[in-house]
Amino acid sequence: MPSEAQITELLSLVNDAREQLAYFKELGVEGTEKSSEQKWTDTGAHAQAEPSAGIASQHHALAESTSPAFAVRPQQVPSAPASDTLFGDLSAPPVSIQKSSESFEEIWSDIGDCTRCPLYQGRTNIVHTDGNRNARLMFVGEAPGADEDAQARPFVGRAGQLLTKIIEAIGLKREEVLIGNVNRCRPPANRPPTPEEASMCKPFLLREIAAVQPEVIVVLGNTAMRNLLDIKQGITRVRGQFQDYHGVKVMPTFHPAYLLRDPSKKKETWDDLKKVRDYLDTTRKPEN
Ligand code: URA
Repeated sequence: MPSEAQITELLSLVNDAREQLAYFKELGVEGTEKSSEQKWTDTGAHAQAEPSAGIASQHHALAESTSPAFAVRPQQVPSAPASDTLFGDLSAPPVSIQKSSESFEEIWSDIGDCTRCPLYQGRTNIVHTDGNRNARLMFVGEAPGADEDAQARPFVGRAGQLLTKIIEAIGLKREEVLIGNVNRCRPPANRPPTPEEASMCKPFLLREIAAVQPEVIVVLGNTAMRNLLDIKQGITRVRGQFQDYHGVKVMPTFHPAYLLRDPSKKKETWDDLKKVRDYLDTTRKPEN
């Protein structure tokens, strides 16, 4: 006779497997790794050892999702995490950045018709941070690509569509989270912004973070990670481990543009995002 603990563990394993399947389905990946690779149009670009966002990779075709909707995970009763290492140091105060009362409109008015760095020369639109200004979860990317530049919204191209699916896979809607970039103008040929360009633009992102005070920030790829955290290592090494930005939990993970180049990395991204979801479950305030 299996013990109650064994049954619980088995159920949890079954649940994990079901969630992972739903995630892969949501992202348009089906079957074995081989067949899933075949579902993505390969234009010949190779995944790099140390991935940078490389928005150009968005030209890879995104396979259509076959799953009409993701079954939202039943809400967990907030419980203490199994171990401190799972979510980093939970004894630290949840948020220690100075809460600012600035509105996004005030911040954007300071940005104005910005010419602080050379990137303004190639832009159609400044792409401001978008989404829920009371968000518990924020995503930070690198810089706009062609679609974002045209539509004046972050993450609306192929990488953005994949990001939306990732958000939905953890049971949230895109409108519930906040999405921004280190730089707000599109770099030529979608190259990563230089450190000088990033240093001109980043202060506005940091002001938005102080105004919203999200509980978790997911940094997508090397550029976002290195601009928010004092980290020299690459995303491949650091991903999946909670970091700290002035008391805010930061989860580094792969940039969705990189996942378009190398779909096999979706599994790691799922592992990272599950940690984010589980952490947010532990800090969720009970509804009245
Ligand atoms: N890649 C990014 O880093 N940001 C966007 O807004 C779009 C693609």
